Amino acid sequence: MNAPPYHGISLKDFSELDLIEPLQRAIEAQNYVQPTPIQAQAIPPLLRERDLLGCAQTGTGKTAAFALPVLQHLSASQKPGSKRHIRALVLSPTRELASQIGDSFKAYGQNLPLRHHVVFGGVNEKSQIRAMERGVDILVACPGRLLDLQSRGYIDLSHVEFFILDEADRMLDMGFVPDVRRIMKAMGKGKRQNLLFSATLPDSVVKLASSFLSNPIRIDITPETATVDAIDQKVMFVDKSDKSALLCDLLVDRDVESTIVFTRTKRRANSLTKKLDRAGFKAMAIHGNKSQNARRRALNAFQDGSTQILVATDVAARGIDVDTVTHVFNYDLPNEPESYVHRIGRTGRAGRSGVAIAFCDDREGSNLRAIEKTIGEEIELDKDHGFHQDKVMASARSGRKSSGGRNRRKSSGRRSSGRKRRSSGRRNSGKKKGSRGRKSNSSNSSRRKSSKSSNSPRRVRRDRRPLSERD
Ligand code: AMP
Repeated sequence: MNAPPYHGISLKDFSELDLIEPLQRAIEAQNYVQPTPIQAQAIPPLLRERDLLGCAQTGTGKTAAFALPVLQHLSASQKPGSKRHIRALVLSPTRELASQIGDSFKAYGQNLPLRHHVVFGGVNEKSQIRAMERGVDILVACPGRLLDLQSRGYIDLSHVEFFILDEADRMLDMGFVPDVRRIMKAMGKGKRQNLLFSATLPDSVVKLASSFLSNPIRIDITPETATVDAIDQKVMFVDKSDKSALLCDLLVDRDVESTIVFTRTKRRANSLTKKLDRAGFKAMAIHGNKSQNARRRALNAFQDGSTQILVATDVAARGIDVDTVTHVFNYDLPNEPESYVHRIGRTGRAGRSGVAIAFCDDREGSNLRAIEKTIGEEIELDKDHGFHQDKVMASARSGRKSSGGRNRRKSSGRRSSGRKRRSSGRRNSGKKKGSRGRKSNSSNSSRRKSSKSSNSPRRVRRDRRPLSERD
């Protein structure tokens, strides 16, 4: 049980894993571009039949980390025409998790002739019993209903070759350990590959793990929230129509070497990418409407540094694990506060520092407040740019207590007096919003940048040639 954490290499591509073609196709259908860290680390040893102790939370991609090797082993040893037995058992503490795991097996196993079923209490047992009678290869179950059906002879666990205990710490909290032990006893002493996943590893979980794992590989995936502390977070209050101009300014002004810019929709990701392109920046969009190949190309270009700006939606950015991201821009604030934590966790990785800048317009105040509630602090205000809007700030911050928060103390700090473009929305009336500000601000910024950046070739650069003359 003293196995050290396993430090696998970070794999760029699923094709680097030894997965069979039907699984590769299923992964492609899911539009996954890159294995998540737990997948990259767990799949190779699991394919080599090692036991595993994984410290990882839901959301890390752990289901695919165990489901893909299980499906591969089961399909390799499947004998055509023979009676189906339960050969893989996944135990989950909750129905919700069990259903999700069932959905994952359905998705990843879509090209294989293997059957799975999900069994939990609180629902009619008839369809579960029928499925058991027809025969399944993979059973995902909550302990109570499983033992009930097993004790009445509907479920035979004596053929289980793969046992996965998921969310073991929750299992313990919910008092399921005696049930888990009974289930293990029902599986018998035959040769089995055993896996345990848990979000935390208190002594009680380690003790349980040592009772049935044999020389396991150990994998620790740091939860996202732990990495957030290393990230310098800022919020900027800005008109929605000024966001692209502000971004262009910051890209040249803030030592940006490599950045992911998050937009709310695929359409906004495309249109922002075009705007950046027109402004002379090399950016690529990555979102769910892009083909698998286009996403892979964008990700590869981002990883090898040939593109320093990736414009992404949440879904597409799942699983992106590039250590060198210096900045994350929340161009649009997410509706789900958890997405904010996930997004900013794309920077500040592998011991590096990172900067996360959120743009908040007058319709995003409630999103901002929800995020701040989730992370337990006010995000520091940054007014040091030419597009700050007091009015937007006032409306976004409304509904709060007026006691001095972190940004209130800071808000009297450095202010870009010379660069402040507008103090009232009326100054620009009659002009296309943002265009004047962008010009003056951008040229200021790039002048400043050109003197600063000569020793720093990796920073984001702007190509000022007309589009037709660029490569
Ligand atoms: P899990 O931690 O297994 O519950 O997975 C969390 C979410 O990540 C699920 O919605 C999966 O579909 C998704 N996911 C898993 N692996 C990947 C991957 N390699 N790339 C993108 N998304 C993934």
